[in-house]
Amino acid sequence: MPTHVPDVASGRLSPDEYISNFLDIHPPLDRHQALVESDRCYFCYDAPCVQACPTSIDIPLFIRQILTDNPEGSAETILSQNILGGMCARVCPTETLCEEACVREAAEGKPVKIGLLQRYATDVLMEARDGEQPFARAEPTGKRVAVVGAGPAGLSAAHRLAMHGHDVVIYDAREKAGGLNEYGIAAYKTPDDFAQKEVDFILSIGGITIEHGKAIGRDISLSELRANYDAVFLGMGLAGVNALGLAGEELEGVADAVDYIADLRQAEDLGTLPVGARVVVVGGGMTAIDVAVQSKRLGAREVTVVYRRGQAKMGASEYEQDLAQTDGVLIRHNAKPSRLVTEAGRVTGIEFEETREEGGRLVGTGVVFTLPADTVFKAIGQTLVPAALNGSAETIALENGKIRVDEERRTTLPGVWAGGDCAATGEDLTVAAVADGRIAAESIHLALSTPSAAA
Ligand SMILES: Cc1cc2nc3c(=O)[nH]c(=O)nc-3n(C[C@H](O)[C@H](O)[C@H](O)COP(=O)(O)OP(=O)(O)OC[C@H]3O[C@@H](n4cnc5c(N)ncnc54)[C@H](O)[C@@H]3O)c2cc1C
Ligand code: SF4
Repeated sequence: MPTHVPDVASGRLSPDEYISNFLDIHPPLDRHQALVESDRCYFCYDAPCVQACPTSIDIPLFIRQILTDNPEGSAETILSQNILGGMCARVCPTETLCEEACVREAAEGKPVKIGLLQRYATDVLMEARDGEQPFARAEPTGKRVAVVGAGPAGLSAAHRLAMHGHDVVIYDAREKAGGLNEYGIAAYKTPDDFAQKEVDFILSIGGITIEHGKAIGRDISLSELRANYDAVFLGMGLAGVNALGLAGEELEGVADAVDYIADLRQAEDLGTLPVGARVVVVGGGMTAIDVAVQSKRLGAREVTVVYRRGQAKMGASEYEQDLAQTDGVLIRHNAKPSRLVTEAGRVTGIEFEETREEGGRLVGTGVVFTLPADTVFKAIGQTLVPAALNGSAETIALENGKIRVDEERRTTLPGVWAGGDCAATGEDLTVAAVADGRIAAESIHLALSTPSAAA
């Protein structure tokens, strides 16, 4: 007789509860609120908020444009640096970027709400222009660039290349464009199908076509792209996931957090999505927190995040951790998974060993505890799938498992650039991917305008 009857069910909540649990987490500012908030900015010279923004948006300028009641001009300032400024306004961890650097944060612990102001301006422009963007294409150059991946890095690169008059073909493995904006970001950060609206907004510049369901390494090779295009940009993100390395990992009851979030983001009716009553999440980054909070909001009774190191080392920001705890998620630190508990061919719990750090090294203390679980989510990081890079006569150099690039995002292969999560450039954030795409596009444009440089 099994001692644990798994409880994984859909429809745990009423239709109204699903709606209210997944509402916009940061409701937008109205015109009056935006005017009042913009008046708090000191318009600093050499503003620290700009230094902290990976896309170097001229923040004091766009805030001044809001203050003078010119939100569309403000949005143009934002979008000229970051064409995904609308999404970044929703998903950026501003508390560790521009708002952490804001002088008002240092002075009074209350930064100017830069993210919400950015959202106000970009929303006004997108609504006023009915989704049409303010940028125009340059005269066609006759050059063709292949972009791999329609995520933030690929879209940003494609847009900037199209602006310069190059023809761009994006190859994406999935059915929909947007990358993790469409399949990964927590549902309450980007409701109302904003990811697809933004993709349409970006593509409205013209000169960009997307080949959906085409993966390099499977349907097309890197050497074909190099032979058929004047330049290639790789922005395929990290399609692999790290394994726990425990026996029973393939059994029912263990799931990959990123896949589950993708199902959640694509679900037409959240009430049809099964969720465990007792959920254990292994990991400490944004993905771990997102799957934990969303499981709770789908009606899971107990959700525990277990992270192998201390609180200060968690990849998720303090704000994200607070959000999880406010939602009733329990976060346990200093414990690593040591065994999956199975019964009748299914995982029913997970055992952890407590840890401590000795000179930066993580060691087990020998003290173990077990958490019963209907679902165990793996959220311990994603990896580059190297097979995608096969099929080139020369080998592309990697660095720490990602594609090595220089400061212009050139790889070690001539004519090939890379950016976003798949490249070894820094933090895995939407805004960092957008910055990489733009920087690479400018470098590609320069190379294509001076042919000897492209060789
Ligand atoms: C669950 C989760 C939540 C997150 N939340 C946040 C957040 O709140 N804020 C934030 O700033 N960042 C967040 N991030 C990180 C952020 O989403 C990424 O840093 C960002 O999306 C990286 O953009 P990218 O274009 O490099 O890759 P991706 O967004 O992963 O896009 C890569 C694209 O390439 C395609 N592709 C993959 N393999 C191939 C192939 N072989 N051939 C062709 N196409 C391919 C994919 O289908 C995809 O469309 C989150 C990440 C995850 C996993
Ligand atoms: S640091 Fe703060 S106050 Fe200064 S320009 Fe930036 S947003 Fe304004």
